[in-house]
Amino acid sequence: MEVVEGTGKHYYSDTELDRTEGEGIEALKERSQQPIPDPDRWLEEELQRNILLTSVDAIINWARRTSIWPAICFPACCAFEFIATSASRFDIDRFGMGILRASPRQADLMITAGTLTWKMAPQVKRIYEQMAEPKWVIAMGACGISGGIFRSSYNVVPGYNRIVPVDVYVPGCPPRPEALLYGIQMLRKKIAKIPNELSLPPLLTEKK
Ligand code: SF4
Repeated sequence: MEVVEGTGKHYYSDTELDRTEGEGIEALKERSQQPIPDPDRWLEEELQRNILLTSVDAIINWARRTSIWPAICFPACCAFEFIATSASRFDIDRFGMGILRASPRQADLMITAGTLTWKMAPQVKRIYEQMAEPKWVIAMGACGISGGIFRSSYNVVPGYNRIVPVDVYVPGCPPRPEALLYGIQMLRKKIAKIPNELSLPPLLTEKK
């Protein structure tokens, strides 16, 4: 090995490189004398050595809060903040929320991103009623919470909580994506605390 003065760089001869490579290969050969066992057997051994204790409630609530699927229901300008939240800079995929559902039957979260008029209210209520149980609602923006700057208008619903139950309120006009993400985290905490016997489907709560 030579060190070039002034640069601190090291240069190896071809012989040295060959020897180093050969030593690495010999070390690998030394460690590889026995065939690697079937991975399934590893897993069995790992399970025998470890015990994981949890409750059914905790597992169900964990699955729910890590796979929340929002319904597409964005009647006005707050929708653009939600779109920004869904894009790469803010990334709601980390919450398992990356897929917006066009069908309410496959969705369990309604984010009310926009002003709601009384004319649209029956449709939004129907979307909520068609969503799968259990389901949640985030009221996003001043309009979603109270009608916002249009509250005194004859045609604006003064808050989505007049027609659907709201779980989390995210204030702002419009709220920034960071605020919506904070609201989503609050909802996840709420889902984590759902009592199990109320949340289980009938089949799992039947007495034996
Ligand atoms: S809160 Fe503001 S940004 Fe959001 S829908 Fe209402 S007016 Fe538009």
